[in-house]
Amino acid sequence: MNDNFTLYDLKVEVIATDKPMVCSHKAGDYFLVEGENLVFPQTHSFSMYSLAALLPLLPAKQRPLQGNDWMLSDSLIACPDPNCGAKFRITRIRKRIQSHGKCTAVPIGEEHLQPEDFRQMD
Ligand SMILES: [Zn+2]
Repeated sequence: MNDNFTLYDLKVEVIATDKPMVCSHKAGDYFLVEGENLVFPQTHSFSMYSLAALLPLLPAKQRPLQGNDWMLSDSLIACPDPNCGAKFRITRIRKRIQSHGKCTAVPIGEEHLQPEDFRQMD
């Protein structure tokens, strides 16, 4: 049985604005989201406060979304420090095929809502 599903790998990049940054960010700093892993190929540090603000959004941005979903259109996230001008751009950079069986020990169940179930709720 094919148990594949698709996620997007993400790039999260620091974007400068006209307001100064007060945290340790540097414009262009970035990390990647590959499956369940955060990868820091270019920087050895990243603000834990910014990371805390970004983490809840990343699993949703990894998944296919409905065209009208704000989670699809909104990809600029402000730094949680109200005095800091940094923003973070979340970009989908590639698709990654995942196997359900390699991600969890919980079997695929028929009781879970499927994408077509959401169309009936509209
Ligand atoms: Zn900041």
